[in-house]
Amino acid sequence: LIKKKVYSKKSEFQDILICDSFAYGRMLLLDGLTQVTEADEFIYHEMIVHVPLIIHKNPRKILIIGGGDGGALKQSLLHKSAEITVVEIDKEVPFLCQKYLPKICGQVFKNKRAKIIIGDGFKFIKECKQAFDIIIVDSCDPIGPAKKLFSQEFYQNVFQALKDDGLAVYQSGSLFAQCQEIKQIFFRNKKFFPFVNIYLLDVPSYGEGAYVFTLASKKINPLKVSLNQIRNKFNKISGKTKYYNPEVHLASFVLPQFIKEHLS
Ligand code: SAM
Repeated sequence: LIKKKVYSKKSEFQDILICDSFAYGRMLLLDGLTQVTEADEFIYHEMIVHVPLIIHKNPRKILIIGGGDGGALKQSLLHKSAEITVVEIDKEVPFLCQKYLPKICGQVFKNKRAKIIIGDGFKFIKECKQAFDIIIVDSCDPIGPAKKLFSQEFYQNVFQALKDDGLAVYQSGSLFAQCQEIKQIFFRNKKFFPFVNIYLLDVPSYGEGAYVFTLASKKINPLKVSLNQIRNKFNKISGKTKYYNPEVHLASFVLPQFIKEHLS
């Protein structure tokens, strides 16, 4: 898979590796796990951003926890009304991504509608009350500094940090390989949010089949948003998507039987 190592470093929080690959272009790995690749980052980032931002009527205040590669920020900026705060724990990640992965983040960290805070998302969110329309948790797997971002306490704080009609989205792992984690995220959120749904996408470089994002909503039932409403909002995005479209949006909520049973 890997053609050439480009840069590696042990930061305060994790092992960072940037390398060139045969099939996916340049990629970022943290603690040995693939985070983003130039070739397929658009799938992950379009789906983690546009699904919640299109379901919400008028998303203005967006919080991204993690997301130091800038990919989720880039997609959020396509929504003209959005002001985005990114809270990333490891300052090396945005620094190195700007240097070695400009195809993914470009100049997004310098955008006037973006604010970058270097800090722990778990601590940051404790101080926020009714502050955000959308919270995007674009974190690593539940190890190291990201572990707390999968706790019940964190989900309660996410609930409190959202406005009354707010939505949160969590990257939740592989449908097949991380089924137990997906169940845990789902039921922990169910304790606070009236609407919790998972939706599916494919990220080829993760190599584990269908991938899951969990959507937790305070007021809007995501399954009741019609294709026409989605199309209207989609037409207002200022830029083109390569994976996301209104039909993919609706289809991504269709689930195989085994996971429906796990979550019922
Ligand atoms: N697409 C990715 C994946 O594979 O799931 C996630 C990418 S993004 C690079 C994940 C980021 O979350 C990392 O840069 C990491 O430093 C950051 N992170 C981990 N724990 C965090 C925390 N507690 N607060 C803020 N950021 C955190």
